[in-house]
Order: sequence, then C-alpha cells, then structure tokens
Amino acid sequence: MAAKIISGKEVSASIRQELAERVAELKEKHGLVPGLGVILVGDDPASHSYVKGKEKAAGQVGIYSEVLRVPASTTEAEVLKMVEDFNKNPKIHGILVQLPLPDHIDENKVIFAIDPKKDVDGFHPVNIGRLHIGEECFIPCTPNGIMELLDRTGVELKGKNATVVGRSNIVGKPVAMLLLSRHATVTICHSRTTDLAGECRRADVLVAAVGRPRMITADMIKPGAVVIDVGVNRIEGGKLVGDVDFDAALEVASAITPVPGGVGPMTITMLMKNTVLAAERTLA
Ligand code: NDP
Repeated sequence: MAAKIISGKEVSASIRQELAERVAELKEKHGLVPGLGVILVGDDPASHSYVKGKEKAAGQVGIYSEVLRVPASTTEAEVLKMVEDFNKNPKIHGILVQLPLPDHIDENKVIFAIDPKKDVDGFHPVNIGRLHIGEECFIPCTPNGIMELLDRTGVELKGKNATVVGRSNIVGKPVAMLLLSRHATVTICHSRTTDLAGECRRADVLVAAVGRPRMITADMIKPGAVVIDVGVNRIEGGKLVGDVDFDAALEVASAITPVPGGVGPMTITMLMKNTVLAAERTLA
C-alpha cells in the first residue's frame, strides 16, 4: 500500500489559522500586537525570497513586521547596532537575522547579540542550552516544524528507533534532541557514518537532512517507517527534490513528507509561532 503523504501545506495552513486566532486575542484582551524584526544584509536572491515569504506569512496571521534591507557593504558594527535597537524596541518581540551574512560579518557574534527572549530562530546558545536541558526556550523552526508534523500525523515516538541523517546545528542536532526528549531511541548519522543504510533501516522514524538529491533509497527504509525529508535540492531541469527517493519510498514507508510541500512550509509557520509565543511571554 502506498504511504500516506504528510502535507506540510495543510498542517501549516491550520496552524496559521490557530495563530491568527491567538494574535486576535492578544490584540483584543491586551492591546498587544506581536512584532517581528528582520535584518537582511546583501542581495542574495534566495535570502530576499525567504524574507518576502516571512513578511507575507506575518501579514497573514496579523503579526507586525519591520524588515531592514541593507547593502552587503554594511559593517558588522552597523548590524550589531540594528540588533541592539530591535532588542530595545518594545514593538518587536522576535528578531530574525537572515543567514548567511556576508563574509566580513561574524555570524555568531550577531546571533549572540540577540536578546534570547527575542531569539525566535532559536539559534542563541542560551536557547540551544535550554533546549538540551528541557527548559522553556525557542525551538529552531525547522526541527519544531518536523515535530508538529509528526504529532499532528499521530506518530508515536516513545520507545521507537529514530534515525536522523545530518548533524547540522540548525536541523540535525536539534531534531535529534527533540526526538530524544520524546523518548525515542535516537541515532545521528553524518558523512563519516560507516553503515548508513543499516542505521536507516533500523529506523521507525527516519529524518533526512543532508542536502543530497534522493540519496535515501527505498532499500534503506524499514517497511512501515515514517519518513521526514528535510532536504531541498534543485536538480537538472530546475526541479526540486528531497534527500529521499520519494516515488520508490512511497511503496515502503507508511507515511512520508513530499518535497516541496512537506517540511518547507512548516519552517516559516514555526517562525510565526515563535513570534506569537515571544509576545505572549511578555505578559507572563
Ligand atoms: P548542512 O550542510 O549544514 O548539513 C548536512 C549534514 O549532512 C552534515 O551533518 C553532513 O555530515 C551530512 N552529510 C553529508 N553527506 C552525507 C553523506 N553522504 N552521508 C551521511 N551524511 C551526510 O545542511 P543543513 O542541515 O543546513 O540542511 C540539510 C538539508 O535540508 C539541505 O538540503 C537544506 O537545503 C535543507 N533545509 C531545508 C529546510 C526547510 O525548511 N525545508 C531548512 C533547513 C535546511 P558532516 O557533519 O559529517 O559534514
């Protein structure tokens, strides 16, 4: 039987609806409008298109957004000053610095300057540390979106084998930590893993976050596994594909996310969720 397709588009639309209701309530009961401050340095077309998507999503759920678009020649000190101004601005509850930054700017220095209470990307070490010890924090958006997809599909994690392929700070490591916190037995694979196929085949839940088109083939998937494909790869002819050989995997997995339309739409939605949370937490 073909696997169920987990639609990030649909889940994302219903979460945005829920968020719009929370935003309306914040306005009505507390006169509070969640605000997102975005800093975009340079003219990388992909970054501009991501920021446009974020602005649009913010508008849809009723979040106020302020986007600072500055040239690639902007100095590190100037970017740090923008962060500092957003830190102090009471209208801004969440700050996002679109990555990558130009080479002359130290990304970590900029991320570390964000007030952890406004760090809606969840990249500040305070939030990463709090995530690891299970304290209230901002969860990075892509891993957060993956967990929402699993939860809203009713996937049981307790006691299951979960394999994460990829160990980046923004996807692999945090999603592994979240799966662990939900009592899965977690294996993290990377480019030096000796038996990748074997590690994948043991997984009841397989998360692929590598960035290599269709590298996870059907024979690497345990029959009935749930497969989350984070990869976004453009192949010859311009088509977007994931890290999983989707058509073949459909015949083996019990559920799978498509690319596009799976994890992708969730990432921006989780940024909106974190911004609403950041505003709500100012009332606590
Ligand atoms: P990184 O390049 O930072 O990390 C890739 C990881 O894959 C590394 O840990 C690397 O191992 C591992 N890897 C590379 N080759 C192999 C291999 N042959 N076998 C096993 N592991 C391997 O990528 P990101 O985590 O940032 O992103 C991963 C993918 O997800 C990309 O396609 C990206 O575009 C996509 N993405 C999608 C998002 C969305 O919203 N849908 C958001 C973020 C990312 P090592 O550490 O040893 O080098």
